[in-house]
Amino acid sequence: MRQELEELRKASAAEFRTAADLDELYELKVKYLGKKGSLTNVLRGVGALSPQERPVIGQIVNEIRVELEQIINQRSDELKEIELERRLASERIDVTLPGRKTQLGNRHPITLTLNHMKSIFMRMGFQIAEGPEVETDYYNFEALNLPKDHPARDMQDSFYITEDILLRTHTSPVQARSMQAAEPNQPIRIIAPGKVYRRDYDATHSPMFHQVEGLYIDKGVRFSDLKGILQLFVQEMFGKNAKVRLRPSFFPFTEPSAEVDVSCTSCGGKGCRGCAGTGWLEILGSGMVHPHVLEMSGFDPRQVSGFAFGMGVERIAMLVYGIDDLRLFYDNDIRFLRQF
Ligand SMILES: [Zn+2]
Repeated sequence: MRQELEELRKASAAEFRTAADLDELYELKVKYLGKKGSLTNVLRGVGALSPQERPVIGQIVNEIRVELEQIINQRSDELKEIELERRLASERIDVTLPGRKTQLGNRHPITLTLNHMKSIFMRMGFQIAEGPEVETDYYNFEALNLPKDHPARDMQDSFYITEDILLRTHTSPVQARSMQAAEPNQPIRIIAPGKVYRRDYDATHSPMFHQVEGLYIDKGVRFSDLKGILQLFVQEMFGKNAKVRLRPSFFPFTEPSAEVDVSCTSCGGKGCRGCAGTGWLEILGSGMVHPHVLEMSGFDPRQVSGFAFGMGVERIAMLVYGIDDLRLFYDNDIRFLRQF
């Protein structure tokens, strides 16, 4: 019996010490020390021994059990350590690998142009005014001296929501709204930037585009003030050598009215294909605020006067950046947008 136990002790100790992983160690523990394990079987045979030998063999079995449990615990610790090192090695971050570059966006050319325009006028003392894009017929047309059936409405065919509510065709309604919100005859100096909507779509028109409208009302505002402001604006926008030219025109809400040209941004005024040989490019409409418009908003045309102008932001951006198709602004082609 002693011989048998000694062989069992040696064999099991060797197996425990070389267990390859924790699963194998657990299986070995069941094999030798479990309810049906080898050592337990030996213990069952103790009953057949002589009364003198029973306690001796029992003690040896217990000693072996204690020894084996120590070996198991030791091997278990070793295997856990090995497993941890294996995981640390496999999950290590290789700091020498090149990183993934974060894609940085940039501002849209329309936003850049709009911000530039705002900053120019704000330095001249204009404040930013805003109004709704869904507008009433009254503010979009009637308050601007464009009664129903006025032929000039045809140039601004838009998206109607009901008979009297539409997407605004220009930022001019903000003029009437600002005048009506102000004390009558008090000075107003605003620009109204924002989105407007018309039923056009080609290389130079988009159903949605941006305008900046300007309005200046005070005592003694003259046509020469308008020209001075616009001359300063084109120099800030297109460079020191840019010039303005005013041509007589018609708008229902201004009298007199003028189309405003800037000296050609490609040839500087000598004449080229871009300006059809004229040396000038049309950029905006302007004029002195019509007395009817002042009266409709509670201002007295005998006490105050003013001027208004409006321009398309896309048109200005096309000239500044040399872009020939307005639709590029809205195609969202990253190769185009990255250039700004
Ligand atoms: Zn030119």
